[in-house]
Amino acid sequence: MDLAHSPRVQGLVDQLEAFMDREILPRASIWREAALEGQYPDFIREVQDKAKREGLWNLAIPNLPMDAPGERLTNTEFAPLAEIMGRFMGSPKAFNCHAPDVPNIIMLADAASSDQRRLWLDPLLNGDIQSAFAMTEPSVASSDATNIQTRIKKDGDDFVVSGRKWYISGAKTASFHMVMGITDDDAAPSRRQSVVIVPADSPGVRLIRPTPFLGFSEPGAPAWEIAFEDVRVPARNLLGEMGDGFRLGQVRLGPARVHHCMRAIGHCETLIQLMQMRARERTAFGKNIDEYDTTQHMIARSRIEIDQARLLTWSCAWVLDQEGFKAARQQVSMIKVAVAEVYQRIADRALQIFGAMGGSDDTPIRDAFSWARALRIFDGPDEVHLRQIYRLEPKPSEPLAASPQILKSPA
Ligand SMILES: Cc1cc2nc3c(=O)[nH]c(=O)nc-3n(C[C@H](O)[C@H](O)[C@H](O)COP(=O)(O)OP(=O)(O)OC[C@H]3O[C@@H](n4cnc5c(N)ncnc54)[C@H](O)[C@@H]3O)c2cc1C
Repeated sequence: MDLAHSPRVQGLVDQLEAFMDREILPRASIWREAALEGQYPDFIREVQDKAKREGLWNLAIPNLPMDAPGERLTNTEFAPLAEIMGRFMGSPKAFNCHAPDVPNIIMLADAASSDQRRLWLDPLLNGDIQSAFAMTEPSVASSDATNIQTRIKKDGDDFVVSGRKWYISGAKTASFHMVMGITDDDAAPSRRQSVVIVPADSPGVRLIRPTPFLGFSEPGAPAWEIAFEDVRVPARNLLGEMGDGFRLGQVRLGPARVHHCMRAIGHCETLIQLMQMRARERTAFGKNIDEYDTTQHMIARSRIEIDQARLLTWSCAWVLDQEGFKAARQQVSMIKVAVAEVYQRIADRALQIFGAMGGSDDTPIRDAFSWARALRIFDGPDEVHLRQIYRLEPKPSEPLAASPQILKSPA
């Protein structure tokens, strides 16, 4: 694994940093005000058009269709770019590199028919519309997807969708929902579910209420509770094959997890800078706060942990590129747990150093604190990933376990 950026990636890193400094950070407070309202700022389209013109568009999609606007990058190449975008929450949208649209694009690129591509994938790749993926349900433990209760019933040339979902990112602004539900009770558990595309304006789609997490909503794509009340869609809206629901969920969740981790590392870098600035400028009991060992240790530990998390994430991206998602399952689960924990610890330290202000709306620390906590739950709670890591851990071989040099038998 080569940690140096190729000249092409270094060029994109420089370009992206300059773009962030020029187009995004000077208007950061407007971005944040809009984000607190669950929106993007009015000028988002103007910024997106500039990013597109400068070749900073659709950088996150390794299976980008060849005719789509944007660069094809490997996961390893995308990692430092995602991190730069992640330094400021909301900015990935400027580059069409944001959740939930990117994982949805990756899923559509994998399975969409040519009609579905024209109707849904192309406008998403162009940044013209937004999308939602609706799996989680309030009434069942949704970290186990076999529990999903939504029904997708074949009726003549249509499917009829009935169920209730919640915590669906971007549900309010999405033009369409990719809904997971049961199509065949008698199939093997992994083939019971399918995904259908439900246009947001279909009769029977009912937005119920926003579902912020610890009072925080994803900038521009707040999560909502949503009901599908006997919603009729044509059979051609099935994504992939009948019974593909689980497989498609995996196609989507792999990149979703990896990109969240890459961006979180960028946000940790912002937090470390904020901690330093604040500790340098405030005095307590006759000393600057950054002169206290306790403060220095908090910052030093954050640096160690960020760099560890980055190395693990880059190595995961590298395995993904070399061997694909199946081979990288353990690494993906490892970064999902490790990065979320690091992010949460660093957000907590930043909050402590800022004092009361850290919990106010005046800094992005509150956002980081909520989001880091959410990251330990969405796209699979920690426990599910820890179980996966354990299961995939190579088991010790017989000769090793039996070797008297390694394990002494009790006398
Ligand atoms: C901000 C945010 C955005 C989200 N966006 C979306 C979205 O766009 N689309 C979507 O479909 N969903 C979305 N979700 C939902 C998210 O994916 C689910 O919350 C997650 O999968 C967990 O499901 P659950 O909440 O039903 O928890 P449950 O499945 O009820 O799990 C609760 C707890 O049970 C324990 N547990 C579960 N399994 C195990 C196990 N195997 N071993 C030990 N303990 C276990 C864990 O402590 C776990 O946290 C979002 C959630 C949040 C917070």
